[in-house]
Amino acid sequence: MTPFDSFAVLDWSGGNDTGPRERKDAIWLGVMRGGQEEEPRYCRNRVEAGVALIALIEAEQAAGRRLLLGCDFPFGFPVGFAGALTGRADPFAVWDWLEAAIKDSPRANNRFDVAGAINARFPGTGPFWFNGLHREIDHLPRRDTRSGHGLPERRAVEAACKGAFACWQMGGAGAVGGQVLTGLPVLNRLRRRFGAALAVWPFEPLTAPVALVEIWPGLINRAVKRAEARGGIRDAHQVRLLTRALAGLPAARLAAMLAVDAPEEGWILGLGHEEALMAACDDPLTPPPLRDDCFALPAGVDWTPVDDALAMLRARLSCVVGQERVALGAAAGRVLAEGQRARRANPSEANSAVDGYGFAHGTLGEGDQVVPLVAGRAAAGVPYPGTVPGGHAVRVLTGAALPEGVDTVILQEDVTVGEGRIAFRGGLKRGANTRRAGEDVESGATVLEVGRVLTPADLALCAAVGLADLPVYRRLRVAVLSTGDEVVEPGAEAAPGQIFDANRPMLLALARQMGHEAIDLGRVADDRAALRATLDRGAGQADAILTSGGASAGDEDHVSALLTEAGAMAEWRIALKPGRPLALGVWQGAPVFGLPGNPVAALVCTLIFARPALRLLSGAGWAEPQGFDVPAAFEKRKKPGRREYLRARIREGRVEVFKSEGSGRISGLSWAQGLVELPDAAVEIGPGDPVRYIPFASFLNG
Ligand code: AMP
Ligand code: MG
Repeated sequence: MTPFDSFAVLDWSGGNDTGPRERKDAIWLGVMRGGQEEEPRYCRNRVEAGVALIALIEAEQAAGRRLLLGCDFPFGFPVGFAGALTGRADPFAVWDWLEAAIKDSPRANNRFDVAGAINARFPGTGPFWFNGLHREIDHLPRRDTRSGHGLPERRAVEAACKGAFACWQMGGAGAVGGQVLTGLPVLNRLRRRFGAALAVWPFEPLTAPVALVEIWPGLINRAVKRAEARGGIRDAHQVRLLTRALAGLPAARLAAMLAVDAPEEGWILGLGHEEALMAACDDPLTPPPLRDDCFALPAGVDWTPVDDALAMLRARLSCVVGQERVALGAAAGRVLAEGQRARRANPSEANSAVDGYGFAHGTLGEGDQVVPLVAGRAAAGVPYPGTVPGGHAVRVLTGAALPEGVDTVILQEDVTVGEGRIAFRGGLKRGANTRRAGEDVESGATVLEVGRVLTPADLALCAAVGLADLPVYRRLRVAVLSTGDEVVEPGAEAAPGQIFDANRPMLLALARQMGHEAIDLGRVADDRAALRATLDRGAGQADAILTSGGASAGDEDHVSALLTEAGAMAEWRIALKPGRPLALGVWQGAPVFGLPGNPVAALVCTLIFARPALRLLSGAGWAEPQGFDVPAAFEKRKKPGRREYLRARIREGRVEVFKSEGSGRISGLSWAQGLVELPDAAVEIGPGDPVRYIPFASFLNG
C-alpha cells in the first residue's frame, strides 16, 4: 500500500518568462492524481507556479488524497549557514528570513541583491557568487574569487551526489543558487497557508496529508535522456518521469528513501535508489512483435516428430513482454527480468549457530577446561559491546554476531555452569558451532538468473541478501476462445446435438496456473466474420491466443482458414496421439495456438506445445517438464511413427493408465494425475517395465 495517493514534481526556475512564447527553461509541474498521469503543466513564472501549487493542494485535500510534492531545489543550506544568518540552526528560520527579504514579480526580482546582502554578513568573500546582472552588486563577486567566508561548499547530500551544483552559485548553466532564494519563499508561503496539513521532509514527520520533499531530476538522467531522444522538452520529461517514478515505486522502497536524518541541511529524496527510480518510470520497453512467418514449416514436411516441432518453437519464439518492478511480497510466480546479485552477504557477519559460550580457541590449552566468564552476553541483534579477553568465555545465543575475541562456541548442553565460570571437555575444533560471514552467499554473488520463475524460497533468498523489489517481466496475457456451432455455455439449455464448452474453463485455468493473465474471449460460432472480430479483439487485448476447435482442414474449420487467409498460418501435423493437426499462426502480431477441439487432445497439446511456447513468450525461457521412470502397472503394444501420451497416475509405486484411450473421455483427464510418455518408436510394455511418467504438476511449476 502506498501511503500517498497523488504525486507531483516541480521543476523550478530562477529566471522569468516574459516573452510571447513558452520557454523551455521555465517552470514545469508533473502531476499524477489517484493513479492518473496528467500532461506536464507549463508555468510561465513563479507567481503562476505558486497559484498552481495552491490549487493542486486544495484539490487533493478536497478529494481526501495524500499528496507527495517534490521540488527540485535544496530545502536547506550547508551546515552552519542557518545559525550564522538567523541565530538558529533551523532551516525554517532561513525560509522565514528569505521570505521577508526576497521581492519577486514576473518582471523582476532581487535575488542577486539578497545574495550580496547575505554575503555582507559573513567574513571574507562569499559564500554566494556569480552576479548575473550588468550592474555591480556590493559583496557579490562575478567570478569565484571567494575566500574566508567560513562555510562548507556543499551539503553532505551534494558531496554524495555526482553532478549536483552547490547552492552558492547564483548563475551559469545548471546553477541552483537563484532557484533556492526564489523558491524557498514560495514554499514558506505554502507552509504558512496550509499549516498542520503540510509537512516538510526531512525536517518534520510526514504525518500530514501533504508532504513537501526535495528531489533532483539528475537521479534519473538516463531515463530522461532516453525519453528526450524521442522528442519533447527535457524539463517536461523530467517532471513527468520523476512523478511516475515516485508513484510507481513499491511502498517499502519509498519508505526506505524517506528514512534519512538530515535535520539542518535536508536531503535529496531517492539518492542511492537511482536504479529503482529509473525502473519505476522508464517508458515501457516492449520487444518487437513476432514475425508473421515465425511458424512457417520447411516445404515438403509431412508428419513432424514431437521433438522437431518443439525445437522449432524453441528456435523461433522469444520474449514479447516488457518489464516492471514489484515488491518481494508480490513477486512469487513472476519471471525475473534481470539477474540479481546479493547486496549483502548471508550471513552478513560471523555468528553463532547455537546457544552456548564463545571464546578464542587459541587462548585455551589442551584437554578439559575451566574458563572464567565475562559479564554480559551476545544475542541475535544485540551484539556484545566489548572484546572478550583471551582465556575467557562469554554467553552467546543463536544468531548473535561473534564478539571481538571469539572464534569458537561450545554448545550449552556440553557445559557445566558454575559461579562466573564454565567447565567443559577438551577436543572442540576451532570455529565449532559458528557460521562464517558469507558462507552461504558472498556479497555481490549472483543469486538468481534472468528468466527465473520466482518461488517462495527465492523470495526468502532475496530478502536475506538485501533485495526489496525485483525487476520482472509483465505478465503474459493469454486470451482463450472456443469455436463450434454445437458448443454452448455450461449450464445453459442444450438442444440435442449440442455440447457444453468444456475447453474454455480448462484452458483459462491452465493459463492462470502457468502464471499468465487469462483473458476470456468467449465462444464463437462457426462463422468466419464473427471469428475474425474475436481474433481482432484478442490480438488487441492479449499477447497470445489459444483457440480450441476448428483447427483442422474441414469445411467448418474456420480458425485454420482465417489464419491461412492472413498469410500467417502453418498447419503443424505433429506425429502425436492424442492430437489432430495443430494450427499455429500469427494474428495481428499475436501468436495463435489453434488447439484441437477434443478436450483430451486440447489438454495434451496445451501441455506439450502451448506451455513451452507461452513460457518463451513470457520471458521464462525453455524448460522441459520433469519426468520419472516408474514401473508400469499395465500392458501396451505400440506401433512406430508417433509419440503417445496416456492419462496416468501412480498407485503403490507403479504407474497405471486410464481404462480407455478414447479421446472423448473427459473423466479420464480428471482421473489422471499425469501423463505417461511413450517414445516415437515401437514399444511393447509389460507390467514392471519402466515407463516415463510426467506429473501434471511438473508441467505447471517450472
Ligand atoms: P473440431 O476440432 O472443431 O472438429 O472439434 C473436435 C471435437 O471436439 C468435436 O466433437 C467437437 O464437438 C468437440 N469440441 C470442440 N470444441 C469443444 C469445446 N469447447 N468443449 C468440448 N468439446 C468441444
Ligand atoms: Mg468444430
